[in-house]
Amino acid sequence: MAEKRDYYEVLGVSRNASEDEIKKAYRKLAKQYHPDLNPGDKAAEAKFKEIGEAYEVLSDPAKKSRYDQFGHAGVDPNFGAGGGAGGAGFGGFGDFGDLGDIFESFFGFGGGGRQRQNGPQRGQDIQISLMLSFEEAAKGVKKTVEYQRIETCHECGGSGAAKGSSPHTCPDCKGTGQVRVTQQTLFGVVQTARPCSRCQGKGQVIDQPCSVCGGMGRVRKNHRVEVSIPAGVDVGQVITLRNEGSVGANGGPAGSLNIVIDVRPHPIFERDGADLRCEIPITFVQAALGSEVTVPTLDGKVSLKIPEGTQQGDVFRIREKGIPHLRGKGNGDLYVKIIVEIPKKLTDKQKEILRQFDKETDGKNYEKRRKFGEKFKDFLGGV
Ligand SMILES: [Zn+2]
Ligand SMILES: [Zn+2]
Repeated sequence: MAEKRDYYEVLGVSRNASEDEIKKAYRKLAKQYHPDLNPGDKAAEAKFKEIGEAYEVLSDPAKKSRYDQFGHAGVDPNFGAGGGAGGAGFGGFGDFGDLGDIFESFFGFGGGGRQRQNGPQRGQDIQISLMLSFEEAAKGVKKTVEYQRIETCHECGGSGAAKGSSPHTCPDCKGTGQVRVTQQTLFGVVQTARPCSRCQGKGQVIDQPCSVCGGMGRVRKNHRVEVSIPAGVDVGQVITLRNEGSVGANGGPAGSLNIVIDVRPHPIFERDGADLRCEIPITFVQAALGSEVTVPTLDGKVSLKIPEGTQQGDVFRIREKGIPHLRGKGNGDLYVKIIVEIPKKLTDKQKEILRQFDKETDGKNYEKRRKFGEKFKDFLGGV
């Protein structure tokens, strides 16, 4: 490769040119040397590439600063600096976003019209949602999901041609997918390239289309795949399976399958990240005397000691009885909130016992009430 010219020199701007000046200079030169305006002119083609490369670097603040410091070595991928400049061959004009604008304004059609339609295209991503039970999300599960995607036609193997025939080179465009059109423009007579209408830019035509895919080479099909759902997934998380989306066109890679997780609520547990919360009702006698209560967990029952004098709303933590941390080790915790239930529909005998009990109590037994009474002595007249 010949010695590279200075990018500022290429665009004909000074080293301290503004962003706007660089852009203007680029647009002017790009129009001047555009291959469609200079058909068959190799020098113009080379110049056009050089301009594009210079602009790619000088229009990107990060690359520009590397170039200003280190010159070509700072932005040339061959030097390992990761600049990513160059590399766009003649077929890569579609990558220069700005050229699309130029085409739009001067020729009335956008860069999209120039895209090679017979080049590889990545297949579409597919999104599905997957409903899991609370336990499945917590413990992980293997699921088979079924969805529709575009696959290569099994009948014609993707060629689009009926059995026993094959596609042949398009006679209109000679397989290039593009036809040259001579146009009268502001600049005089110019040749522009347009996608071939006979083959829709594919470069090949099919006389007898495949009966299954109608010549498309691809068909929509139901597909099943088994997915391993890791323990600890939660609502809204996405599991991506590469290459399980639709197949690409012209040898392009397949898209991805994105599985959006949904989780059914649990009758007892609420989830808070990897922690679980639940409420356990106990009797007021259990609360007063202390007790051992049975608490459900995702791994069966455990027993929890409730101390004497437990209050409504007290929360107890049972370690490691939550959900596995999706990343990292161990489980979250289970938080048990105590609900003290006041008995209803008491019998006469029960009422009598409680009245006797009440006579035996005083301010020492009811701390909150006593403190409240002290604050509002005048108002309540004491407890
Ligand atoms: Zn087919
Ligand atoms: Zn054609």
